[in-house]
Amino acid sequence: MIDFSLSPKLEQQNMQMQMLAQGLMRPYSHDLDENEHEKPWDFINATWQVTSAQMAKQIARVEKQLAGEEVSKKKKSGPSNTYMNLAYQIEWLSWGDAGIYLCLPTAALASSAIEAVGTPEQNVRFLKRFSEGDPKWGGMAITEANAGSDTAAIRTTAKLDPETNEWILNGEKIFVTNGLMAAEKSDGILVIWATVDPSAGRRGIKSFVVEANTPGMKVTRLEEKLGIRASDTAVIVFDDCRIPYDNILGNPEVHDKKKSKGFKGAMKTFDASRPLVAASAIGIGRAALEFTKEMLEKEGIEIRYNAPLHQMTAIERDIIEMESQLKAAWLLTLRASWMMDQKMANPIEASMAKVKSGKAVTLITQKAIEILGPLGYSRDYLAEKWMRDAKINDLFEGTGQINTLIVARRILGYNRTQLK
Ligand SMILES: Cc1cc2nc3c(=O)[nH]c(=O)nc-3n(C[C@H](O)[C@H](O)[C@H](O)COP(=O)(O)OP(=O)(O)OC[C@H]3O[C@@H](n4cnc5c(N)ncnc54)[C@H](O)[C@@H]3O)c2cc1C
Repeated sequence: MIDFSLSPKLEQQNMQMQMLAQGLMRPYSHDLDENEHEKPWDFINATWQVTSAQMAKQIARVEKQLAGEEVSKKKKSGPSNTYMNLAYQIEWLSWGDAGIYLCLPTAALASSAIEAVGTPEQNVRFLKRFSEGDPKWGGMAITEANAGSDTAAIRTTAKLDPETNEWILNGEKIFVTNGLMAAEKSDGILVIWATVDPSAGRRGIKSFVVEANTPGMKVTRLEEKLGIRASDTAVIVFDDCRIPYDNILGNPEVHDKKKSKGFKGAMKTFDASRPLVAASAIGIGRAALEFTKEMLEKEGIEIRYNAPLHQMTAIERDIIEMESQLKAAWLLTLRASWMMDQKMANPIEASMAKVKSGKAVTLITQKAIEILGPLGYSRDYLAEKWMRDAKINDLFEGTGQINTLIVARRILGYNRTQLK
């Protein structure tokens, strides 16, 4: 049964996150929003100690397994609370600043992709670097100019050179979060999706790990964005970029349905990441809601939760609506995260949490501006920034429409050709 009470450990974690958010994020929010592409180094250096230590533990577990040492059954396959804890962490960090949170030095989505499809050896080979040395970043590059929602339209190719036993990558990826840091400015990695057989549609699409500064991989542009401006988003070109054969995640098989699990496996990455994107949305929404209530309180406006409906003011109704939207989104997010921890299949729940929180945070931040009026519109405060930051949650990791489609298909039992 899902348990909503906070353990003392989680309460302590929340307090630490709050301190980080208040001390190393909020004070930099304005500057990093104004000066896109600058990096929050104080935050990065402070958090690298924590994220690298977490990764060291993860790697040690896999190494033990590889060495044939007995890992306790619970650690091997039993439930954990990793995703629930992460949801709380990310909610707080995004309450601090969602753009700065995205600069966290971690393997990020690259790690989810490698964990979902890679072998234990690949986990150690690619992820160990995130447990030692200087801060590093990982990223995942799927989107192309003509392939966003429709991932089957990917045109980047991976061709095997039988003489050298290397994959040769050619193509262009756009909108890669932390692309510059992962590809060129640290010893990081990128997981990129490419087709080994363009005529095979989805089944031809595989994921590959490209290590930073591999010749033939080049960042050609950084986006100028509406929101989450502290985080960089890159265009990356692959021009005869050669990577070792073993950098393919999953099986290179295309035609044997049973063996060709690469694409399906890679899609599992989203079951893990969507609840966490939802948690980030909720953090922004809570920041906007709390600020609005604080300002109303300063003006002596009290929210009468127990007032009869017909006596409520428009503002009271709005605030209660904002609060209930946020709570509903948070409950869906906790459910999807808890299911990840229980190792239960959660594609519907992950998409539901993502859709609901994307819509909730968009509504909440816009309502906040409406209620705050000039204070909301002024750049002296963060409300207008939160409104800009909010919108991304309805776009990346599958747009609101696409996640709604996923939920509808699964509930109605339709496949992708029956419901487009
Ligand atoms: C700041 C930022 C960071 C990003 N980071 C990454 C990253 O790290 N890695 C990565 O690979 N990508 C990343 N993306 C890309 C993002 O995932 C895509 O933009 C998103 O998937 C949508 O794809 P698209 O832009 O091609 O839009 P399209 O797929 O062209 O969609 C355009 C519109 O049509 C709608 N639509 C499309 N198909 C349907 C349908 N069947 N039914 C109903 N509506 C539909 C969409 O919902 C959307 O509103 C990022 C994007 C941004 C803006």
